[in-house]
Amino acid sequence: MATAKLLVVLVALVAAASSSFGAWELNIRMPTARAVEDAAAGVAAPLIHALRPLVGSAGDLGRRGGVPCDSWRLAVEAYNKRDWKTVPADCEGYVGHYMLGGHYRRDSRVVVDEAIAYAEGLKLAGNGREVWVFDIDETSLSNLPYYAKHGFGTEPFNATSFNAYVLEGSALALPETQRLFDKLISLGIKPVFLTGRTENQRAITVVNLRRQGYYGWMKLLLKPVGFKGTAIGFKSGERRKLQDAGYVIVGNIGDQWSDIIGAPEGARTFKLPDPLYYVG
Ligand SMILES: [Mg+2]
Repeated sequence: MATAKLLVVLVALVAAASSSFGAWELNIRMPTARAVEDAAAGVAAPLIHALRPLVGSAGDLGRRGGVPCDSWRLAVEAYNKRDWKTVPADCEGYVGHYMLGGHYRRDSRVVVDEAIAYAEGLKLAGNGREVWVFDIDETSLSNLPYYAKHGFGTEPFNATSFNAYVLEGSALALPETQRLFDKLISLGIKPVFLTGRTENQRAITVVNLRRQGYYGWMKLLLKPVGFKGTAIGFKSGERRKLQDAGYVIVGNIGDQWSDIIGAPEGARTFKLPDPLYYVG
């Protein structure tokens, strides 16, 4: 008897789900010409879609305009939002799910698929002077284990605890980036790591990269201890030195805009997702 009741409930749930899915499909149709005309005349707003993913407000943006966390993330990735210090507190759950739930990996995969397609289409001179610049943190290595313990970017950055974590040398490879790295080596393009990590972290960074299966890079360029300039200034300066030394930067990949802007950027740049922090 109990089983029969359970079955009835399940059937009702499936029916409800399929009927709401049908209504959903109906509502995602584009507005009719008449609706657009009505909207222009101020009669009614055209219905474009009924989907309102209320996944939480988004801190300062949210308070100003009711923008949810996915819109906050898009503004971050598109470089419309800059100089932010922490992930909005209300978005910790959203960012955590994004990072751990598969979405982050899918987004990264699309970026790397494009990068590989681009690299495979290059007409290479094959003279050993063609290089590809890789950022390290959140590009080649993931510090997600650290950020998962620190509110997914909602806590203010703590250099002491983060540097202690870096010195463990336990950061994980980002598999998508590693796929690109290995592909480039097979094509004869030499990887160059260019990182905001400092020179005194060289040894542990090399250990960490090797532990995670990175081999065959041409250079590892780290920031001098006590460097006072901006990330853009440091990284573009190092790229300039590479170019002046006769290297051709065919590609450049990073998770921050400061990795990929500032001449010479490289012939093509690729931006990996990172909703955890901002480096200007
Ligand atoms: Mg980075």
